[in-house]
Amino acid sequence: MLSNETVNIWSHLLGFLLFFSLGVNDLSTVLPASGANREDYVIYAIGLFCFQVCMLCSVGYHLFSCHRSEKTCRRWLSLDYAGISVGILGCYVPGIFYAFYCNAFWRQVYLLTVLSLILAVFCAQVHPHYLSNEWRRIRMAIFCCVAGISVVPACHWVWLNGGYTTDVVKLFLPRVIVMYLIAGSAFLFYVTKIPERYFPGQMNYLGASHQLWHILVVVMFYWWHQTAVHIMRFRHSQSCPTRTSSSS
Ligand SMILES: [Zn+2]
Repeated sequence: MLSNETVNIWSHLLGFLLFFSLGVNDLSTVLPASGANREDYVIYAIGLFCFQVCMLCSVGYHLFSCHRSEKTCRRWLSLDYAGISVGILGCYVPGIFYAFYCNAFWRQVYLLTVLSLILAVFCAQVHPHYLSNEWRRIRMAIFCCVAGISVVPACHWVWLNGGYTTDVVKLFLPRVIVMYLIAGSAFLFYVTKIPERYFPGQMNYLGASHQLWHILVVVMFYWWHQTAVHIMRFRHSQSCPTRTSSSS
């Protein structure tokens, strides 16, 4: 039946199916055709698996958020938050792997930093106050930090590749900027509760901010996945300029 959770549940259930079929298609067609090696397969599997986990946790939360047991409802909410962290991890891993493809040192530094950050967030989520209303701002701050810190490797990547005039930066920086724009607008809807705050009671079934947030998250993951496919093909089409690692 139609409820205020229908769009929330279906948007991420279809999102899950999208990333599942992308995974099947990638591993069976796209990667073999691009001359991928074992590392590429692992990175793609991690990225798409993270997106699928994020989608399923969200579906579970929106299905059971009306559960009569408050404890059950809160457990699903924690799982929904954990799913967002996993989704962010799924963006970081292929992003860092291909951005620092020719620099094994920085690739390891950033991958380890991101892994420990996500682990720290998981630890914070165990805190009994994490889900409380008083911690709402702290929760927001933690997610903003985990996502926002990506500006550091992004700028470093531009600098390492010789600035804005080089081919690889010209090719991929616009895609990174679009990624930030999608993520920024998704977050804006999530926080500001626009448009339902201006039309109270009229957006209960369709058009609420949380539904827009859900759809933008799917769009963002899809965009990042396509970007990873492009950069993977680019990396396999030409060798590293100054090879500091033997990663292929
Ligand atoms: Zn949601």
